[in-house]
Amino acid sequence: MDSTNILAEKRLKVTPCRIDVLNYLRRCGRAVGQPELQKFFEGKYDRVTLYRTLHTFLKVDLVHTITNNDNGTIMYALCNHSMHVANSNHNHLHFKCLKCNTITCLNEIELQNFILPQGYNLKTLQIIAIGECPQCTFNK
Ligand SMILES: [Zn+2]
Ligand SMILES: [Zn+2]
Ligand SMILES: [Zn+2]
Repeated sequence: MDSTNILAEKRLKVTPCRIDVLNYLRRCGRAVGQPELQKFFEGKYDRVTLYRTLHTFLKVDLVHTITNNDNGTIMYALCNHSMHVANSNHNHLHFKCLKCNTITCLNEIELQNFILPQGYNLKTLQIIAIGECPQCTFNK
């Protein structure tokens, strides 16, 4: 499926910025922060356009967010669950590599739902495993 179809399926208008950002996210296969996109698309799309694009993607559940606990940057990663199940579970493990500083979704590792004490209302679960990614492990 190409990015135009993905946008159509989400009933989003196809714009050059949406296509470019979606392609970028799909190509790199890891979580991406807005500063990285600003750098990459410098001179092409401004900060506000990129922000709106990411915000739109978030609203239609095309991406989900992870907060990078080092600097508080919001990272955006493509959703991997069925396109037809809106806002389904994002409770999978995220892995942060200390060497190349990437954050990757480990969709296959689902987090269990904690049963919280009364009065606590769980919205999202953010657990980040920290270590070395396969690329850094094997390219030593
Ligand atoms: Zn999602
Ligand atoms: Zn790495
Ligand atoms: Zn994820």
